[in-house]
Amino acid sequence: MKEEKQEPGTVCGLPIASSDIIRLAHGSGGKMTSSLIESLFVPLLGNEQLNKLDDATDFMLGSTRFAISTDSYVVSPIFFPGGNIGSLAVHGTVNDLCMRGAKPLFITASFILEEGLPLQMLAEITRSFSQACKDSNVKILAADTKVVGKGAADNIFINTTGFGQIDVEPAPSCQSAIPGDLIIVSGDIGRHGMAIMSARESLNLETEILSDSAPLHKIVQALMEDAMPIHCMRDITRGGLATVLNELAKSSNVGMYIYEHDIPVHPQVEAVCELLGLDPLYVACEGRFVSIVSAEAAESVVSRIRQIENGSNPSIIGEVRSEHSGAVIVETRIGGKRILDKLSGEQLPRIC
Ligand code: MG
Repeated sequence: MKEEKQEPGTVCGLPIASSDIIRLAHGSGGKMTSSLIESLFVPLLGNEQLNKLDDATDFMLGSTRFAISTDSYVVSPIFFPGGNIGSLAVHGTVNDLCMRGAKPLFITASFILEEGLPLQMLAEITRSFSQACKDSNVKILAADTKVVGKGAADNIFINTTGFGQIDVEPAPSCQSAIPGDLIIVSGDIGRHGMAIMSARESLNLETEILSDSAPLHKIVQALMEDAMPIHCMRDITRGGLATVLNELAKSSNVGMYIYEHDIPVHPQVEAVCELLGLDPLYVACEGRFVSIVSAEAAESVVSRIRQIENGSNPSIIGEVRSEHSGAVIVETRIGGKRILDKLSGEQLPRIC
């Protein structure tokens, strides 16, 4: 038998020093998350399907194509303006299925509870989870409960797995953007992150910023039924629009060119971002997505989204180019150009 040699300073053949530890930024969805996925999880767990790093993985059962996605929710605080960890867990999972053009069908629910959590809070969160499932047309097919001692978790964590059916061919994928496509955001960005921040920092805002947390199945089903030529979709979650576009640019081997002026940001979100020194392009949403579509269909996609999601303010924000492959360039409001990198470090931990 061949003997596996372990290099000094490596663990399981991976270059990990014994001093390396997990930091909050590993969960940011930005550069450190990507590096953790690419350097540790992909080599140890990856396979042909998982390595595509899509929002949900598609697979065939018989002659039908399905999508599966799993996620854990650790948001803090667990109640925030516009939702709570229960509704968020359903929306986040349903939306990852939708991003592959799938119709969400089933979900699982695993609750990890910290000793001391008031039962009344758990009941409210569970009610929200149930209502969000009804709103999203998904049925709960399996559930689990675990309780850990005080301090071993923070109130409640929820893990979900979503399962849906894909009836479109080809299914939208993060690898399918092509030069000439246009980039659309489905609505104004950054509300979820700023709703969490305002709750966390107890900001006394004149008008409360509500999270955009919502299921995207109705919009996506309408776009799929109209056979819109959508090549990629990704929900704008951790790391915000900037990070999502970087991921798509890298997966599709294309450049993305966007116009800051055309990116919809609510004035109040913009004001709070300025107050806290944050860039809205890096702030998470939980009910908005980017779609990358053939140029000739872009206006129709925008008007269809506007029809379904009244008031969401969808907008064409840029185009896919062959130059600057793997990078995102933003043309600023004053006409300058800069490279828009992935989120580095962690500006808003535990946003979802
Ligand atoms: Mg996603």
